[in-house]
Amino acid sequence: MKVMAAVKRVVDYNVKVRVKADGSGVDLANVKMALNPFCEIAVEEAVRLKEQGIATEVVVVSVGPPLAQEQLRTALALGADRAVLIESSEELSALAVAKLLKAVVDKEQPQLVILGKQAIDSDNNQTGQMLAALSGYAQGTFASKLEVANDSLKVTREIDGGLQTVALSLPAIVTTDLRLNEPRYASLPNIMKAKKKPLETITPAALGVSTVSTNTLLKVEAPAARSAGIKVKSVAELVEKLKNEAKVI
Ligand code: AMP
Repeated sequence: MKVMAAVKRVVDYNVKVRVKADGSGVDLANVKMALNPFCEIAVEEAVRLKEQGIATEVVVVSVGPPLAQEQLRTALALGADRAVLIESSEELSALAVAKLLKAVVDKEQPQLVILGKQAIDSDNNQTGQMLAALSGYAQGTFASKLEVANDSLKVTREIDGGLQTVALSLPAIVTTDLRLNEPRYASLPNIMKAKKKPLETITPAALGVSTVSTNTLLKVEAPAARSAGIKVKSVAELVEKLKNEAKVI
């Protein structure tokens, strides 16, 4: 079966982001960008399915600026076979991305689409669910285990206070949680090989998708600075401060 993984270019998780002075967004000038960690897990899972002989082809898809080719090449170096970049330099809503991915799903007809549970820049946690709704496919979100058997898929989901296992009929959409797998590092020979793998570029207009948003971004603010904490010497001192200074007990 064909497996598609959706990958997003985001600010690297080690970067301390700065909000632009006019509050219009986050400053991306000279900032290190990377493959969204949950998308890396999605690619790893797809590649493992190929290594087990379950997947026949792994296609990675990204919606983003021309530079998102870097993250697609990383995904190819991790073992994906082919990449598609839907080129858009706009800040797109999750719904617009889901519509674009749906157009690629219609074209590629994958049996399984794996996305991250969330992108660490926008923290939306929406795209996989919206893609499932638009495609009419079954969905298993926050997956920590996948088992493929014939025409169905067993997904163990991380839910509050435990695990839930659901059986989905294929084609299906899965979103990855942190414990699904530990992504490999791309080896130098695989990075070199990835440069020659096919990468197709396509526009939203060519897919016939309007990316006009119904949301307007009003303001981006950094969280209020917190005052420094102190170390207390004993439990008695802690209780005294909670009672008399913080007045919480
Ligand atoms: P979000 O709903 O924005 O938190 O993103 C959840 C997942 O949807 C990500 O981990 C990706 O797998 C996918 N996704 C979101 N935005 C994009 C994008 N611009 N290009 C490709 N995949 C995306």
